[in-house]
Amino acid sequence: MNNISRRKFLLGCGGFCFWAGLGVPGLMTGEAKAADLESKSVGRVHIFRDDAPEKLWKWSREAFSYEKISGSKTVCNICPNSCVLSPGDRSICRSKVNMDGTLYTLAYGNPCSVHIDPIEKKPLYHFLPRSRAFSLAEAGCNFRCLNCQNWEISQARPSEVRHYDLFPQQAVERALRSGADAIAYTYSEPITFFEYTIDTARIAKQQGLKNLLISNGYINQEPLLALCEVIDAANINLKSFDDKLYRKLNGGRLQPVLDTFRTLNEQNVHFEMTTLVVPGYVDDPEMIRNMCKWITDNLGGGHPLHFLRFIPHYKLDRLPPTPVSTLEQMRQIAMEEGIRYVYIGNVPGHEANHTWCHNCGKLLIKRQGYDLSLPGLEDGRCRFCDTEIPGVWNKKT
Ligand code: SF4
Repeated sequence: MNNISRRKFLLGCGGFCFWAGLGVPGLMTGEAKAADLESKSVGRVHIFRDDAPEKLWKWSREAFSYEKISGSKTVCNICPNSCVLSPGDRSICRSKVNMDGTLYTLAYGNPCSVHIDPIEKKPLYHFLPRSRAFSLAEAGCNFRCLNCQNWEISQARPSEVRHYDLFPQQAVERALRSGADAIAYTYSEPITFFEYTIDTARIAKQQGLKNLLISNGYINQEPLLALCEVIDAANINLKSFDDKLYRKLNGGRLQPVLDTFRTLNEQNVHFEMTTLVVPGYVDDPEMIRNMCKWITDNLGGGHPLHFLRFIPHYKLDRLPPTPVSTLEQMRQIAMEEGIRYVYIGNVPGHEANHTWCHNCGKLLIKRQGYDLSLPGLEDGRCRFCDTEIPGVWNKKT
Protein backbone atom coordinates (compact mmCIF):
# COMPACT_ATOMS: atom_id res chain seq x y z
CA MET A 1 0.00 0.00 0.00
CA ASN A 2 1.52 3.36 -0.89
CA ASN A 3 1.61 6.25 1.59
CA ILE A 4 -1.49 8.00 0.37
CA SER A 5 -3.71 5.00 0.16
CA ARG A 6 -2.42 3.72 3.51
CA ARG A 7 -3.27 7.03 5.16
CA LYS A 8 -6.73 7.13 3.60
CA PHE A 9 -7.30 3.60 4.75
CA LEU A 10 -6.21 4.34 8.30
CA LEU A 11 -8.27 7.52 8.48
CA GLY A 12 -11.26 5.52 7.47
CA CYS A 13 -10.81 2.79 10.05
CA GLY A 14 -9.29 4.71 12.96
CA GLY A 15 -12.38 5.08 15.10
CA PHE A 16 -13.50 1.54 14.53
CA CYS A 17 -10.12 0.09 15.41
CA PHE A 18 -9.88 1.96 18.68
CA TRP A 19 -13.37 1.25 19.90
CA ALA A 20 -12.93 -2.34 18.87
CA GLY A 21 -9.95 -2.39 21.23
CA LEU A 22 -7.32 -2.55 18.52
CA GLY A 23 -6.26 1.10 18.37
CA VAL A 24 -4.60 2.91 15.53
CA PRO A 25 -1.54 5.12 15.26
CA GLY A 26 -1.94 8.87 15.18
CA LEU A 27 -2.87 10.13 11.78
CA MET A 28 -1.55 13.25 10.19
CA THR A 29 -3.69 15.74 8.45
CA GLY A 30 -0.82 18.01 7.59
CA GLU A 31 2.51 16.59 8.62
CA ALA A 32 4.38 18.81 6.20
CA LYS A 33 3.28 21.89 8.10
CA ALA A 34 5.90 21.47 10.77
CA ALA A 35 8.58 22.03 8.16
CA ASP A 36 7.02 25.38 7.23
CA LEU A 37 7.64 26.95 10.60
CA GLU A 38 10.21 29.67 10.67
CA SER A 39 12.73 29.05 13.41
CA LYS A 40 14.52 31.74 15.31
CA SER A 41 17.33 31.38 17.78
CA VAL A 42 16.81 32.49 21.35
CA GLY A 43 20.01 31.93 23.27
CA ARG A 44 20.85 28.27 23.12
CA VAL A 45 17.52 27.09 21.80
CA HIS A 46 15.44 27.45 18.68
CA ILE A 47 11.90 28.67 19.09
CA PHE A 48 9.33 28.19 16.39
CA ARG A 49 7.62 31.44 15.48
CA ASP A 50 4.02 30.74 14.71
CA ASP A 51 2.49 33.49 12.61
CA ALA A 52 -1.00 32.31 13.40
CA PRO A 53 -0.85 30.78 16.88
CA GLU A 54 -3.68 28.47 17.69
CA LYS A 55 -6.29 29.69 20.07
CA LEU A 56 -6.73 27.86 23.32
CA TRP A 57 -9.10 24.95 23.00
CA LYS A 58 -10.74 22.55 25.35
CA TRP A 59 -7.56 20.44 25.29
CA SER A 60 -5.48 23.30 26.75
CA ARG A 61 -4.21 23.50 30.31
CA GLU A 62 -1.86 25.87 32.01
CA ALA A 63 1.60 24.31 32.03
CA PHE A 64 2.75 22.34 35.07
CA SER A 65 5.99 24.16 35.71
CA TYR A 66 7.16 27.44 34.21
CA GLU A 67 8.21 30.95 35.15
CA LYS A 68 7.04 34.31 33.96
CA ILE A 69 9.87 36.64 33.09
CA SER A 70 10.13 40.14 31.69
CA GLY A 71 8.04 41.27 28.74
CA SER A 72 5.34 38.62 29.26
CA LYS A 73 7.87 35.94 28.34
CA THR A 74 7.70 32.48 29.88
CA VAL A 75 10.36 29.81 30.53
CA CYS A 76 9.19 26.20 30.59
CA ASN A 77 10.81 24.11 33.32
CA ILE A 78 9.84 20.64 32.13
CA CYS A 79 12.85 19.71 30.03
CA PRO A 80 16.41 20.92 29.45
CA ASN A 81 15.36 22.77 26.30
CA SER A 82 14.11 25.50 28.67
CA CYS A 83 12.01 27.16 25.98
CA VAL A 84 11.80 30.92 26.40
CA LEU A 85 8.59 32.01 24.70
CA SER A 86 7.17 35.44 23.98
CA PRO A 87 3.41 35.79 23.56
CA GLY A 88 2.45 33.94 20.38
CA ASP A 89 5.52 31.70 20.36
CA ARG A 90 5.37 27.94 20.18
CA SER A 91 7.75 25.57 21.94
CA ILE A 92 10.34 23.23 20.50
CA CYS A 93 8.06 20.31 21.34
CA ARG A 94 5.29 22.05 19.40
CA SER A 95 2.70 21.46 22.09
CA LYS A 96 3.16 24.53 24.28
CA VAL A 97 2.30 28.13 23.54
CA ASN A 98 2.60 31.42 25.35
CA MET A 99 -0.78 33.11 25.23
CA ASP A 100 -0.72 36.63 26.64
CA GLY A 101 2.04 35.79 29.11
CA THR A 102 0.69 32.45 30.33
CA LEU A 103 2.19 29.14 29.20
CA TYR A 104 -0.29 26.52 28.05
CA THR A 105 -0.04 22.98 26.82
CA LEU A 106 -2.31 22.17 23.88
CA ALA A 107 -1.87 18.45 24.43
CA TYR A 108 -4.21 17.45 27.24
CA GLY A 109 -6.88 14.82 26.77
CA ASN A 110 -6.48 14.63 22.99
CA PRO A 111 -4.28 11.56 22.42
CA CYS A 112 -3.51 10.84 18.79
CA SER A 113 -2.62 7.18 19.40
CA VAL A 114 -4.46 4.72 21.60
CA HIS A 115 -3.48 1.05 21.55
CA ILE A 116 -3.51 -1.94 23.82
CA ASP A 117 -0.06 -3.52 23.69
CA PRO A 118 1.72 -6.41 25.33
CA ILE A 119 4.15 -4.96 27.84
CA GLU A 120 6.97 -6.76 26.04
CA LYS A 121 6.51 -4.35 23.14
CA LYS A 122 7.69 -1.35 25.19
CA PRO A 123 10.12 -3.19 25.70
CA LEU A 124 9.80 -4.12 29.37
CA TYR A 125 11.07 -7.66 29.88
CA HIS A 126 11.52 -7.69 33.66
CA PHE A 127 8.24 -6.10 34.71
CA LEU A 128 5.07 -8.16 35.07
CA PRO A 129 5.43 -10.32 31.95
CA ARG A 130 2.26 -10.87 29.93
CA SER A 131 0.71 -7.62 31.20
CA ARG A 132 -1.34 -5.53 28.83
CA ALA A 133 -0.66 -1.83 28.54
CA PHE A 134 -3.27 0.70 27.49
CA SER A 135 -0.97 2.98 25.52
CA LEU A 136 -1.43 6.69 24.95
CA ALA A 137 0.44 9.30 22.94
CA GLU A 138 -0.04 12.97 22.23
CA ALA A 139 1.60 14.81 19.35
CA GLY A 140 5.00 16.39 19.89
CA CYS A 141 8.56 15.67 21.01
CA ASN A 142 11.43 17.60 22.53
CA PHE A 143 13.94 15.76 20.29
CA ARG A 144 14.51 15.75 16.53
CA CYS A 145 15.83 12.23 15.93
CA LEU A 146 16.86 11.70 12.31
CA ASN A 147 15.70 8.10 12.57
CA CYS A 148 12.39 8.69 14.36
CA GLN A 149 9.98 5.81 13.83
CA ASN A 150 6.94 7.84 14.85
CA TRP A 151 7.80 11.11 13.17
CA GLU A 152 4.26 11.54 11.87
CA ILE A 153 3.08 12.22 15.41
CA SER A 154 6.30 13.21 17.21
CA GLN A 155 7.11 16.01 14.78
CA ALA A 156 3.61 17.44 14.59
CA ARG A 157 1.52 19.91 16.51
CA PRO A 158 -1.50 18.63 18.43
CA SER A 159 -3.79 20.36 15.92
CA GLU A 160 -2.19 18.56 12.97
CA VAL A 161 -3.09 15.06 13.98
CA ARG A 162 -6.39 13.32 14.24
CA HIS A 163 -7.08 12.64 17.87
CA TYR A 164 -9.42 11.13 20.41
CA ASP A 165 -11.26 12.92 23.18
CA LEU A 166 -9.98 11.19 26.29
CA PHE A 167 -9.40 13.24 29.40
CA PRO A 168 -7.51 11.60 32.28
CA GLN A 169 -10.55 10.17 34.07
CA GLN A 170 -11.98 8.86 30.80
CA ALA A 171 -8.63 7.35 29.80
CA VAL A 172 -8.43 5.46 33.08
CA GLU A 173 -12.01 4.24 32.77
CA ARG A 174 -11.34 3.10 29.23
CA ALA A 175 -8.16 1.31 30.34
CA LEU A 176 -9.99 -0.48 33.15
CA ARG A 177 -12.81 -1.52 30.83
CA SER A 178 -10.32 -2.90 28.33
CA GLY A 179 -8.86 -5.19 30.99
CA ALA A 180 -5.42 -3.59 30.80
CA ASP A 181 -3.04 -3.90 33.74
CA ALA A 182 -1.25 -0.64 33.10
CA ILE A 183 -1.29 2.63 31.22
CA ALA A 184 1.77 3.35 29.10
CA TYR A 185 2.73 6.89 28.09
CA THR A 186 4.59 6.16 24.93
CA TYR A 187 5.13 6.33 21.13
CA SER A 188 5.91 10.05 20.89
CA GLU A 189 7.41 11.70 24.02
CA PRO A 190 5.42 11.79 27.27
CA ILE A 191 7.69 14.44 28.72
CA THR A 192 6.20 16.88 26.25
CA PHE A 193 2.66 15.95 27.31
CA PHE A 194 3.72 15.94 30.92
CA GLU A 195 0.51 17.51 32.25
CA TYR A 196 -1.68 14.84 30.69
CA THR A 197 0.71 12.09 31.77
CA ILE A 198 0.90 13.03 35.42
CA ASP A 199 -2.80 13.74 35.85
CA THR A 200 -3.75 10.45 34.20
CA ALA A 201 -1.09 8.54 36.13
CA ARG A 202 -2.32 9.87 39.47
CA ILE A 203 -5.87 8.68 38.79
CA ALA A 204 -4.65 5.38 37.34
CA LYS A 205 -2.60 4.69 40.45
CA GLN A 206 -5.61 5.33 42.70
CA GLN A 207 -7.58 2.87 40.57
CA GLY A 208 -4.96 0.13 40.89
CA LEU A 209 -3.39 0.41 37.44
CA LYS A 210 0.36 0.51 36.91
CA ASN A 211 1.96 3.42 35.05
CA LEU A 212 4.69 2.93 32.45
CA LEU A 213 6.87 5.70 31.07
CA ILE A 214 8.50 5.08 27.69
CA SER A 215 10.72 8.06 27.10
CA ASN A 216 13.92 9.66 25.91
CA GLY A 217 14.63 10.70 29.52
CA TYR A 218 15.18 14.34 28.57
CA ILE A 219 13.52 15.92 31.57
CA ASN A 220 14.45 18.24 34.44
CA GLN A 221 14.76 16.94 37.95
CA GLU A 222 11.72 18.59 39.54
CA PRO A 223 9.13 17.18 37.10
CA LEU A 224 10.97 13.86 37.08
CA LEU A 225 10.67 13.56 40.85
CA ALA A 226 6.96 14.31 40.57
CA LEU A 227 6.63 11.52 38.00
CA CYS A 228 8.59 9.09 40.17
CA GLU A 229 5.75 9.21 42.69
CA VAL A 230 3.33 7.66 40.21
CA ILE A 231 5.43 5.74 37.67
CA ASP A 232 5.95 2.04 38.31
CA ALA A 233 8.30 1.22 35.44
CA ALA A 234 10.15 3.00 32.68
CA ASN A 235 12.03 2.22 29.54
CA ILE A 236 14.41 5.05 28.80
CA ASN A 237 16.33 5.42 25.56
CA LEU A 238 20.06 5.84 25.94
CA LYS A 239 20.58 6.91 22.37
CA SER A 240 24.38 6.92 22.48
CA PHE A 241 27.18 7.81 24.85
CA ASP A 242 28.52 10.83 23.03
CA ASP A 243 27.22 14.34 23.55
CA LYS A 244 28.12 15.43 19.99
CA LEU A 245 26.16 12.50 18.63
CA TYR A 246 23.19 13.36 20.81
CA ARG A 247 23.18 16.85 19.36
CA LYS A 248 23.60 15.65 15.79
CA LEU A 249 21.35 12.60 15.69
CA ASN A 250 18.73 13.54 18.27
CA GLY A 251 18.82 17.27 18.88
CA GLY A 252 19.47 16.88 22.60
CA ARG A 253 22.28 16.44 25.12
CA LEU A 254 23.61 13.39 26.90
CA GLN A 255 24.11 14.60 30.48
CA PRO A 256 20.45 15.26 31.34
CA VAL A 257 19.60 11.73 30.24
CA LEU A 258 22.31 10.30 32.49
CA ASP A 259 20.91 12.38 35.35
CA THR A 260 17.50 10.84 34.70
CA PHE A 261 18.93 7.33 35.04
CA ARG A 262 20.60 8.25 38.32
CA THR A 263 17.37 9.68 39.71
CA LEU A 264 15.25 6.71 38.68
CA ASN A 265 17.81 4.46 40.33
CA GLU A 266 17.80 6.48 43.55
CA GLN A 267 14.00 6.56 43.59
CA ASN A 268 13.80 2.78 43.13
CA VAL A 269 11.71 2.99 39.98
CA HIS A 270 12.07 -0.16 37.90
CA PHE A 271 13.68 0.81 34.59
CA GLU A 272 15.16 -0.76 31.52
CA MET A 273 17.37 0.89 28.93
CA THR A 274 17.17 0.83 25.16
CA THR A 275 19.88 1.70 22.66
CA LEU A 276 19.10 1.70 18.95
CA VAL A 277 22.27 0.64 17.15
CA VAL A 278 22.33 2.95 14.13
CA PRO A 279 25.01 1.92 11.61
CA GLY A 280 27.74 4.53 11.27
CA TYR A 281 26.39 6.49 14.25
CA VAL A 282 25.81 4.30 17.28
CA ASP A 283 28.02 1.29 16.59
CA ASP A 284 31.45 2.26 17.85
CA PRO A 285 32.57 -0.58 20.19
CA GLU A 286 34.66 1.77 22.32
CA MET A 287 31.73 4.12 22.87
CA ILE A 288 29.46 1.21 23.76
CA ARG A 289 32.06 -0.09 26.20
CA ASN A 290 32.29 3.32 27.88
CA MET A 291 28.51 3.49 28.04
CA CYS A 292 28.27 0.08 29.69
CA LYS A 293 31.06 0.95 32.14
CA TRP A 294 29.13 4.06 33.12
CA ILE A 295 25.99 1.99 33.62
CA THR A 296 27.62 -0.58 35.89
CA ASP A 297 29.57 2.06 37.83
CA ASN A 298 26.54 4.29 38.39
CA LEU A 299 23.46 2.08 38.20
CA GLY A 300 24.75 -1.43 38.80
CA GLY A 301 24.46 -4.44 36.52
CA GLY A 302 20.86 -5.40 37.23
CA HIS A 303 18.95 -3.11 34.88
CA PRO A 304 18.13 -4.80 31.56
CA LEU A 305 19.65 -3.27 28.46
CA HIS A 306 18.04 -3.70 25.03
CA PHE A 307 20.08 -3.25 21.85
CA LEU A 308 17.65 -2.72 19.02
CA ARG A 309 18.31 -3.32 15.37
CA PHE A 310 17.97 -0.19 13.24
CA ILE A 311 15.60 -0.47 10.31
CA PRO A 312 16.01 2.24 7.61
CA HIS A 313 13.57 5.02 8.36
CA TYR A 314 12.67 8.68 8.11
CA LYS A 315 15.72 10.84 7.34
CA LEU A 316 18.11 7.88 7.60
CA ASP A 317 16.26 5.68 5.14
CA ARG A 318 19.36 5.17 3.01
CA LEU A 319 21.33 3.46 5.76
CA PRO A 320 21.37 -0.33 5.88
CA PRO A 321 19.79 -2.26 8.75
CA THR A 322 22.18 -3.03 11.60
CA PRO A 323 24.09 -6.26 10.92
CA VAL A 324 23.14 -8.90 13.47
CA SER A 325 26.86 -9.50 14.13
CA THR A 326 27.18 -5.87 15.28
CA LEU A 327 24.32 -6.31 17.74
CA GLU A 328 25.92 -9.48 19.04
CA GLN A 329 29.22 -7.64 19.48
CA MET A 330 27.48 -4.88 21.45
CA ARG A 331 25.79 -7.47 23.65
CA GLN A 332 29.08 -9.24 24.28
CA ILE A 333 30.70 -5.96 25.33
CA ALA A 334 27.82 -5.13 27.68
CA MET A 335 28.03 -8.53 29.36
CA GLU A 336 31.81 -8.25 29.70
CA GLU A 337 31.25 -4.95 31.50
CA GLY A 338 28.88 -6.58 33.99
CA ILE A 339 25.38 -5.90 32.68
CA ARG A 340 23.57 -9.12 33.46
CA TYR A 341 20.53 -8.97 31.18
CA VAL A 342 21.28 -7.77 27.68
CA TYR A 343 18.75 -8.27 24.90
CA ILE A 344 18.76 -7.99 21.14
CA GLY A 345 15.52 -6.66 19.69
CA ASN A 346 14.05 -6.39 16.18
CA VAL A 347 15.71 -9.67 15.19
CA PRO A 348 12.95 -12.30 15.26
CA GLY A 349 13.97 -15.64 16.68
CA HIS A 350 17.32 -14.48 18.07
CA GLU A 351 18.26 -16.28 21.28
CA ALA A 352 19.18 -12.98 22.92
CA ASN A 353 15.50 -12.12 22.91
CA HIS A 354 14.99 -14.75 25.64
CA THR A 355 15.91 -14.32 29.31
CA TRP A 356 18.75 -16.51 30.56
CA CYS A 357 19.71 -16.81 34.22
CA HIS A 358 22.80 -14.72 34.85
CA ASN A 359 24.05 -17.27 37.37
CA CYS A 360 23.48 -20.73 35.86
CA GLY A 361 22.71 -19.77 32.25
CA LYS A 362 19.43 -21.71 32.05
CA LEU A 363 16.43 -20.45 30.10
CA LEU A 364 14.04 -18.44 32.28
CA ILE A 365 11.67 -16.76 29.80
CA LYS A 366 11.19 -17.83 26.20
CA ARG A 367 9.80 -15.23 23.80
CA GLN A 368 8.39 -15.82 20.35
CA GLY A 369 7.14 -12.54 19.05
CA TYR A 370 5.01 -11.32 21.93
CA ASP A 371 4.11 -14.84 23.06
CA LEU A 372 6.08 -16.06 25.98
CA SER A 373 6.49 -18.96 28.35
CA LEU A 374 8.33 -18.99 31.66
CA PRO A 375 9.99 -22.39 31.88
CA GLY A 376 12.64 -21.33 34.39
CA LEU A 377 11.10 -18.55 36.45
CA GLU A 378 9.17 -19.01 39.66
CA ASP A 379 8.32 -16.19 42.08
CA GLY A 380 11.06 -14.06 40.60
CA ARG A 381 13.75 -16.70 41.08
CA CYS A 382 15.54 -19.13 38.81
CA ARG A 383 13.92 -22.57 39.14
CA PHE A 384 17.28 -24.26 38.62
CA CYS A 385 19.69 -22.40 40.91
CA ASP A 386 17.29 -20.27 43.02
CA THR A 387 19.02 -17.03 42.05
CA GLU A 388 16.88 -13.93 42.45
CA ILE A 389 16.23 -12.30 39.08
CA PRO A 390 16.11 -8.50 39.08
CA GLY A 391 12.72 -7.09 38.17
CA VAL A 392 9.11 -6.90 39.30
CA TRP A 393 7.39 -10.24 38.83
CA ASN A 394 4.49 -10.07 41.25
CA LYS A 395 1.53 -7.73 40.72
CA LYS A 396 1.28 -7.03 44.43
CA THR A 397 4.86 -5.73 44.58
S1 SF4 B 1 8.72 20.45 27.47
FE1 SF4 B 1 8.47 21.49 25.48
S2 SF4 B 1 8.07 23.62 26.06
FE2 SF4 B 1 8.93 22.66 27.85
S3 SF4 B 1 11.13 23.08 27.72
FE3 SF4 B 1 10.77 21.06 26.79
S4 SF4 B 1 10.55 21.47 24.61
FE4 SF4 B 1 10.29 23.43 25.66
